[in-house]
Amino acid sequence: MPLVSTAFVTHSDCLRHEMGRHHPECPERLSAIEDQLIASGIGQFLTRFEAPLATDGQLARVHPMEYVRAIRDVAPEEGIVHLDPDTAMNPHSLQAALRAAGAAVKAVDLVVPKEFSSAFCAVRPPGHHACRTRPMGFCIFNNVAVAARHAVQEHGLERVAIIDFDVHHGNGTEDIFEEDPNVLMASTFQHPFYPYSGTEAPASNMVNIPLSAGAGSREFREAVESAWLPALDNFAPQLVIFSAGFDAHVEDDMAMLRLVDGDYAWVTKKVKEIADRHADGRIVSMLEGGYALSALGRSAVQHIKVLAGLDA
Ligand SMILES: [Zn+2]
Repeated sequence: MPLVSTAFVTHSDCLRHEMGRHHPECPERLSAIEDQLIASGIGQFLTRFEAPLATDGQLARVHPMEYVRAIRDVAPEEGIVHLDPDTAMNPHSLQAALRAAGAAVKAVDLVVPKEFSSAFCAVRPPGHHACRTRPMGFCIFNNVAVAARHAVQEHGLERVAIIDFDVHHGNGTEDIFEEDPNVLMASTFQHPFYPYSGTEAPASNMVNIPLSAGAGSREFREAVESAWLPALDNFAPQLVIFSAGFDAHVEDDMAMLRLVDGDYAWVTKKVKEIADRHADGRIVSMLEGGYALSALGRSAVQHIKVLAGLDA
């Protein structure tokens, strides 16, 4: 039996956040991942943790306190309130968003001191479009940013890499970390496409690789090998954090890239080699997008399988 040291962080509160009927960012996304963990037989090898609530202090490392207070104030006691055309809160959304950001903190606390070599956070709402002072694109708090700042400010790390393979550009993460010497962000995204950012004068610590509609495994792997991996090796991260969105999958109608299940195993393996070389293998991964439920579940499991060393 392989020696597995991967934590799985989630919370049932994340199932209660809903943004209206037929919204693609739905609770069933987490169930799809759970189903595939069972079907693949790897769920039993993971150690499960409940996500705590993020504290104001942990959120304030990323978002000004006025923003955190505004989100608390706007959270409805009944019904649904819209934060932007795509992003809404129901009476459970605040709690879910605090759990999602809290999962980021918990995962860092498990992985940085090497209690676990990696952690996957199956949480929602996602985070990578959330800017310092603005919710956006299904996102309320920027979960990976909370993780990175916690690693730097609480654990004293100096170099954290954020890897974002979601089909959308992580504009919120870039807004938070542009020219931050502690962070290198490497991403691929469909362009031109929502949120129409990432290509004009990106900050020097951003390795942004736009991909055209219709691009698939070959173009994605070329971008990773030619741009991400050399930059990551040069940066020598002490921790790697994935913004793990699975909406670049060919079966996902949200966008027009054509990745397949195996690409998620492949990219995880390539980045894991970097983490093994520089970061004692330490990886935290947080769910972002992925809306074709079957493809999401299968792809997330491909990713987790490699994180856990169960792919051999
Ligand atoms: Zn996305």
